[in-house]
Amino acid sequence: ATAVLVNELYRLLQHRDSSSHLTTLSPRTRGVESLIGNTPVIEIKSLSRLTGCKIYAKLELNNPGGSAKDRVALAIIRANERARKLRPHHGDLIFEGTSGSTGISFAMLANALGYQAHICLPDDTSPEKLQLLRSLGAVVEPVKPASIVDPNQYTNAARNAAAKIDADPNDPRNAVFADQFENDANWRIHYDTTGPEIWTQMDGNIDVFINGSGTGGTIAGVAKYLKQKNENVRIVLADPQGSGLANRVNYGVMYDSVEKEGTRRRHQVDTTVEGIGLNRLTWNFKQGESLIDEAIRVTDDQALKMAKYLCINDGLFWGSSAAVNCVAAVKTAYKYGPGQKIVVVACDSGARHLSKFWKLAQQQNDDVTIDDILA
Ligand code: PMP
Repeated sequence: ATAVLVNELYRLLQHRDSSSHLTTLSPRTRGVESLIGNTPVIEIKSLSRLTGCKIYAKLELNNPGGSAKDRVALAIIRANERARKLRPHHGDLIFEGTSGSTGISFAMLANALGYQAHICLPDDTSPEKLQLLRSLGAVVEPVKPASIVDPNQYTNAARNAAAKIDADPNDPRNAVFADQFENDANWRIHYDTTGPEIWTQMDGNIDVFINGSGTGGTIAGVAKYLKQKNENVRIVLADPQGSGLANRVNYGVMYDSVEKEGTRRRHQVDTTVEGIGLNRLTWNFKQGESLIDEAIRVTDDQALKMAKYLCINDGLFWGSSAAVNCVAAVKTAYKYGPGQKIVVVACDSGARHLSKFWKLAQQQNDDVTIDDILA
C-alpha cells in the first residue's frame, strides 16, 4: 500500500510540475484549458528504420485546439489576467492577427474562459480555417494581404482595432492585442513547458531538436531549455522555401528586414507550407537565434512527398510544418550518421491543410521513397 501511495504521489507531483505553468485550478474546476500541454512523444518508425537514427515527434497536434498554439494563447491570456487587462465575463476582447492556429486557440479559450476573440487575417486564408474560426464563435475580419509595414496588414489591423476600443471612454470593455510575434510570454511558455516535457520524455537523451519558425517562440523556448540542460544538444531550424531565416542562421544575412521597408513581395514567403518561414526577424525568433546551430532548407516538393510518405508508412496524417521538420530530420540523420536521437515537433494535423497542402500531397505517389523525397 505504501508503494502505491508513493507512486500516486510521484505521479501527481510529476503532473503538477509540468502543467503548473498552464493550469493552476483544482481538478474539479478545470475545463478544456487543463488539457493543454503534456503532449505525447512517439517514434516515427519508418524514418528510424531508414536512417539508423531514432527519430521522434512531439505531438503538439494533441492539444485540444489542435496545435502548439494552445500553450501560447493560454499563457498570453493568463498574463493579461494577472495584469488585470482581461477580466472574465466582462465582455473583454482578445485581438490577434493570425492566419493560422493561434486564432483557433484563442477562439477556443475565449469561449472557455469568458472572452470574445476577434481575429484579423489575410483574405486568402483557407476556407476551412475561416469556417473553423466562425464555428468557434470568433469575430473574423479578413483584410487584404499586405506587408508588415502597411498599417492595414492583419497584425497591424488587430493592434489598431484593440487600441481603438481601449481608448474609447464610452466603451466599458477591455481589449488586448495578443501580439504573439513580439510577446515575451510566447517563448517563455515553451521554455517552461514544452522544453521540460521533451527533456523528461527523452530521459535526457536527445542529440538534436528540429523545428521551423513562425513566430520563433517554440524553437527559442525549447532551445533555451535544452541547451541549459546540455549545451551539446544540436538545435536545427527547418526552413521552408521562400523564407529568409535559413540565410540569416547559416550566413548571418537576410535579404530583407522591416527596418529597410520591404515591399509586400519581399516580405511574403512563397510556399504551400503554412505556419513557418518568415522574411523578418521577430522578438521571439531573436530570443533563440544564437542557440540555433544550423538551418536546413526544405522545398515544398520535399514536404509534400514526406507528408504522403508518413501517412502511407506510419499512419501519420500531419500538417505541412511537421512534414518540413521530418525532411530536415532525415537530412540531419544522413549528414551526421546513425545513432542520433532526433526530436521534431508535429505542430498540427493534416486536417487543417486539406484545401491547400494536402490537395497536392494527396496527389503524390503512394510508393514514394526517401530517395524521391531528397532528390
Ligand atoms: N507549425 C504550424 C502549423 C504553425 O501554425 C506554427 C505557428 N505559426 C509553427 C509551426 C511554428 O511555431 P512558432 O510560432 O512557435 O515558431
